Amino acid sequence: MGCSLEKKILRKLFLGFIQIHILHHAKEHPIYGVWMVEELKEHGYDISSGTLYPILHSMESDGLLTKEERNVEGKIRKYYSITSNGEQVLDEARNKAYELFKEIKD
Ligand SMILES: [Zn+2]
Repeated sequence: MGCSLEKKILRKLFLGFIQIHILHHAKEHPIYGVWMVEELKEHGYDISSGTLYPILHSMESDGLLTKEERNVEGKIRKYYSITSNGEQVLDEARNKAYELFKEIKD
């Protein structure tokens, strides 16, 4: 990709897409970091866990996600589920994304 300004702007945009994506999956079932990294990879986002974890943490402190620690084969794994505030944000974001998609798709 071209100049670093483009990269900077795209990174900002994608951050929003990634957060919507996280909310979508956290509504379906509790998610954890490594799973989400793989999921995003399949959708073309090359994001490291070092980038994703702070996003999960800030979404938790914003009250969009709630965290639960589970012991998985002797290791503590942090699972995130959507909160009711998160569901409201997801609904609103879905409507806005759909409206935008209809307008820009062609
Ligand atoms: Zn997905």
